[in-house]
Amino acid sequence: FPSGGMRTTFEARGYTAWDPTSPMFLVESENGRTLCVPSVFISYHGDSLDQKTPLLRALEAVDRQTVALLKLLGDVDVRSVGATLGVEQEYFLLDRDDWAQRPDLVLCDRTLLGAASPRGQQFEDHYFGSIPPRVLAFMEELEFELHRLGIPMKTRHNEVAPMQFELAPIFEDANIANDHNALTMDVARKVALRHHLVCLFHEKPFDGLNGSGKHSNWSLVTDRGENLLDPGRTPHQNLRFLTFMAVCLKAVHDHGDAMRASIASANNDLRLGANEAPPAILSVFVGDLMTQIIERIIAGSPSEGTEQFIVDMGVGRLPQLALDYTDRNRTSPFAFTGNRFEFRAVGSSMNCAGPMAVLLGAVADATGRLAARLKAKLDGGARRDDAVLALLREAFTETAAVRFDGNNYSEDWRAEAAQRGLPERRDTPAALGVLRDPARVAFLREQGVYTEVELASRYNIAIERYIKQVTLEAETQLELLRTLVIPAGEKQLAATLGAWSGLAPAGDAKATAAMREAVTAGTRALSGHVERLSATLAEVMGAADELEKLLSGANGGHDEAATARRLADSVRPLMAKAREAADRLEHLVDDELWPLPKYREILFMR
Ligand code: ADP
Ligand code: MG
Repeated sequence: FPSGGMRTTFEARGYTAWDPTSPMFLVESENGRTLCVPSVFISYHGDSLDQKTPLLRALEAVDRQTVALLKLLGDVDVRSVGATLGVEQEYFLLDRDDWAQRPDLVLCDRTLLGAASPRGQQFEDHYFGSIPPRVLAFMEELEFELHRLGIPMKTRHNEVAPMQFELAPIFEDANIANDHNALTMDVARKVALRHHLVCLFHEKPFDGLNGSGKHSNWSLVTDRGENLLDPGRTPHQNLRFLTFMAVCLKAVHDHGDAMRASIASANNDLRLGANEAPPAILSVFVGDLMTQIIERIIAGSPSEGTEQFIVDMGVGRLPQLALDYTDRNRTSPFAFTGNRFEFRAVGSSMNCAGPMAVLLGAVADATGRLAARLKAKLDGGARRDDAVLALLREAFTETAAVRFDGNNYSEDWRAEAAQRGLPERRDTPAALGVLRDPARVAFLREQGVYTEVELASRYNIAIERYIKQVTLEAETQLELLRTLVIPAGEKQLAATLGAWSGLAPAGDAKATAAMREAVTAGTRALSGHVERLSATLAEVMGAADELEKLLSGANGGHDEAATARRLADSVRPLMAKAREAADRLEHLVDDELWPLPKYREILFMR
């Protein structure tokens, strides 16, 4: 538990308290059984040191704000509102022996080197193929273990990259779902070992192949079990549904910055905006049908009566259409999928309590603001339906910039987003800056999700984590280059030069003319090879030297923001350059001399 400066040594005491809303459970291991009690963890001064407390507070804020808004909408019987969460968890599996032979995987959870395999994901045969038997055995045992822990695991399937898979439970209350996800990751790692596999939750273990996310499907549900993001059968239900649609658009519109910060990490930086994952620009996909309705509400002429307008628009029976119509846009970071939203930009290795706390804080804030405006209209004597429709018109107009249904991967979108004023924060140091801007995070304090001290600590923890992670990766890569890659290149060079000198008796008087010709041709071919080899080797050596120099100067002293910026701007690009040269060298070196298991060797386990 890093404290981000909140817990000094002389008052290091912290307190746990059971979270009674999340059931205790027993974990069985080989020689015993452990009682686990889901708990919050707070400091001597009462600050939250954990991820759970802010999530619980955000759920409380959502409850408070939505119940108040529902009352204004006429739903006076609703006593409480909670959030539901169903996370799709992506992961990779590797053979344990292959994993053990790759120090980059062992130390950093991802490969820092490795030439692309000619066969990758281009045939989509892994995605559409059947589950390899060895993997199925792992999945079945995992599901069995999870069901014993009360985790409603339901979905399993292959994912896009070779050896990439996904699992998803049936959704639950957000707090329990999050505990269950953390537990699922833990159990999956352990069960994998029993199958001589290693389960990787890293966001981008392999360059050039798809990375992994934790798609967080969520919605709002009343104590009567009504899903507030589900279009209903009556005009009233549908005005309510549209109001919560407006709330979600406003939440992302007003607080996309903070949401972006909540998903920032050194790992997720490698995935976001990499053309196989949501970009670093937060926008909302609502689908064709919802877009039509929203546009009509914006354009609707106030002269026609509200009732008539509602009927004309089809809001009267906004059917289950939404579900059928809405094929999800898989490029969107935040997509409406018919009766819920899917926050797709969350990274696979994250504890999604952080992103969910910020998201729900934003939802609570947006709800509160829209409720205040609705109340003002009602107090001014407007009829309820008129007031709601007027509010929707305003809210949909004001948040138009954040709605985007097109291809989020395209370069055009980056330009258009800039024009719309949507920020693109491409890396963690850029994204985290928001947490230090009091105005941008005020809503989290106002909604009681984080205190000011806690926000500062979350910034410190995240920036420090980034620095440690990137530094670890750079140091590991440097060691691999120096102790494995460069020696392999040198051995190859010596072997090739040896073969060359074997051909050298070209001046031998006894050699026939034909032999002499063959030797000359061979020498020429070899000299081309030697040239390429030595040039590439020199590139790797040069990059390693540069990296070493940069690393020794990378520490910006106490200015962590500056250090992080330097790592993002200089160290990571240099690592990419070193890797590119090393990967070319891999193709010039005898397979027997290459010391690391290759992509093609570890990704096609059967
Ligand atoms: P996909 O087609 O996106 O891969 P999956 O079935 O893998 O869909 O995952 C969808 C997830 O969304 C599941 O965990 C499911 O329980 C969850 N989900 C469905 N409805 C809701 C809801 N109302 N609130 C929260 N999560 C939901
Ligand atoms: Mg899925």
